Amino acid sequence: MERALILIEDISLGGFWADFNEYQKESKVTDTKVVINDSRLAFYALGISDEAGEVAGKVKKLYRDKNAVLTEEYKKEIIKEIGDVLWYMSQMCTYLGVNLEEVAKNNLEKIKSRHARGLVSGNGDNR
Ligand SMILES: [Mg+2]
Repeated sequence: MERALILIEDISLGGFWADFNEYQKESKVTDTKVVINDSRLAFYALGISDEAGEVAGKVKKLYRDKNAVLTEEYKKEIIKEIGDVLWYMSQMCTYLGVNLEEVAKNNLEKIKSRHARGLVSGNGDNR
């Protein structure tokens, strides 16, 4: 728990929100895959899950094959997969008519509220 908070404090947020909007606009241009039967929402949801699995796979292989030694090169491979997750999330947000920025801000508010109330651990979406 403490570790996550330290990481958040270490991240520079200069231009962060503006970049999210720009990313969403620019990445939409690359969303050219034709999907059948208006299944775009399912395509994005499965894409998020697929790419999140690739993130997990890279981490699994870090422990299985690399003695848990996280090199800068391997870190870049994991980060690329995180980017793939972000691409699908961005397209899903566009499809649902919401800014990625808005989703990020709302999520941050939710997490901060839980943290302030000591409800980070536990279950339920609306803690
Ligand atoms: Mg990938």
